[in-house]
Amino acid sequence: MINILDKKFTPLISREVIESRIAQIAAEITKDYEGSCPLFIVVLNGAFLFASELVKRTALSCEITFIRLASYSKTMSTGSVREIIGLDDNITGRDIIIIEDIVDTGLTMAQLVKQIENLNPASVAIATLLHKPDALKTPIEIRYTGFDIENKFVVGYGLDYDGLGRNLDALYVLA
Ligand code: 5GP
Ligand code: MG
Repeated sequence: MINILDKKFTPLISREVIESRIAQIAAEITKDYEGSCPLFIVVLNGAFLFASELVKRTALSCEITFIRLASYSKTMSTGSVREIIGLDDNITGRDIIIIEDIVDTGLTMAQLVKQIENLNPASVAIATLLHKPDALKTPIEIRYTGFDIENKFVVGYGLDYDGLGRNLDALYVLA
């Protein structure tokens, strides 16, 4: 059990399990994108640890860029997505792989995929560390998922509670 501010969290997924799953996803991406030079778009802040673990295990020539979005206030989805840092890379004709920490309602990814598709990429795929199938509000195709989890608030491995907990090397769930 750990405490962050006013809340208690219990261990959910260990670092070893997370990292071996990420290695499997990296191997799949390496195979699926052989001969392509994909552009990874990392959704900050939450995806930074997942992205670093994933891209360093991906044996491809690739490019990596970053976008920053927010849709959460403390532990509740606000339902509206704010783009904080926009995309300035040329993505026309590129194979795009979005790297996200967690797909919850799916609204963030649905909006981002739409924005990216407007820029005429060759393809768009989503790689997410976590997915809460029971929270989904909009249909969304996720190509690579680390773990499906219950509809409960989680922290660690890049995900925060009110700014804290991102540096935890494992995943924890609200007790
Ligand atoms: P969505 O638009 O799918 O509802 O939410 C996407 C964003 O909300 C995620 O990228 C993540 O930043 C945040 N989020 C969703 N669920 C959780 C959670 O359980 N814990 C944390 N820390 N953030 C979450
Ligand atoms: Mg996110």
